[in-house]
Amino acid sequence: MNYKEKIKFLHNVFGESRLQNDELELTVRCPNCGKPGKRKMCIRLDTDLYHCWVCNLRGRNVARLVAMKKPSAVSEYNQKFKPAGIANISTQSLPEFDPVSLPENYRLIMENTRDPDSLAIRKYAHSRGISDSMLWRFRVGYSDEWKLRRRLIIPSFDGDGNLNYWVARSIDKDPYIKYVNSQAPKVAIIFNEIDIDWTKPVHLVEGPLDLVKCVNLNATCLLGSSLTENSMLFYELALNNSKIILSLDPDARKKQDKIADLLKSYNLDVYTASPSFGDIGDMSPKEVEHLVSHPVQWNETSNLQNRIKDL
Ligand SMILES: [Zn+2]
Repeated sequence: MNYKEKIKFLHNVFGESRLQNDELELTVRCPNCGKPGKRKMCIRLDTDLYHCWVCNLRGRNVARLVAMKKPSAVSEYNQKFKPAGIANISTQSLPEFDPVSLPENYRLIMENTRDPDSLAIRKYAHSRGISDSMLWRFRVGYSDEWKLRRRLIIPSFDGDGNLNYWVARSIDKDPYIKYVNSQAPKVAIIFNEIDIDWTKPVHLVEGPLDLVKCVNLNATCLLGSSLTENSMLFYELALNNSKIILSLDPDARKKQDKIADLLKSYNLDVYTASPSFGDIGDMSPKEVEHLVSHPVQWNETSNLQNRIKDL
């Protein structure tokens, strides 16, 4: 595709511009924070994602950016240059939530190895293939809070290192409630975003107990088996144009297909690497690494083949 006309149009709107990254990105003066001569607003010409490196203004609909600078140019932009098939994702519609805090008297398992509660949880962790170093690495802890007793608690931190979620898994065999989660809405957070490098391929698994097995991978979890466009995770993946490798459990194959289709519809590079039987959470980190070392690229044909297999 030739972006000559689009570049000319955007140059006229923002007054100054420069092409970079194989002529796929145009940098312009940010309509929010920009000073003359400073082109910190980066626009992807193919996907319409934009991001200012200074004020962090970001989105995926350049029409909104045009509106900030020259409202009269918006309709022409939408008619001529808006990429087809790209809906407008925005984080504005995400629910607000109160800051998450750690459970009462939260302590790390590995710092309290003599405490009987901690001991029982550590034993459970070992039985699930979660080693001491993984308990350290994922900052796994426990709490005295009544509803959280005998639960392995995995905290999650956002990109700035602030707590944004936690998950508490019962260590008992047939618990009344298997998981107790913190209150924040799942769509508004990214589990352990602090560990993710968006410029590298991102691995997605279902839950935190799968994620701990991805100890050597650039990974996060869905906190379930679905992903919607209106979620922080989807937004970041699209914004960063990340390469994505999906590793959901075999019983979620159809849901995985759906996620792959959705990501693909945003032109993202999608791969799958799912176990044919058994769950990621029951595998060792080495086995998971081996599994994802040969991911299969997702395209319409692979989806069709999967559907035929299901018949
Ligand atoms: Zn800015």
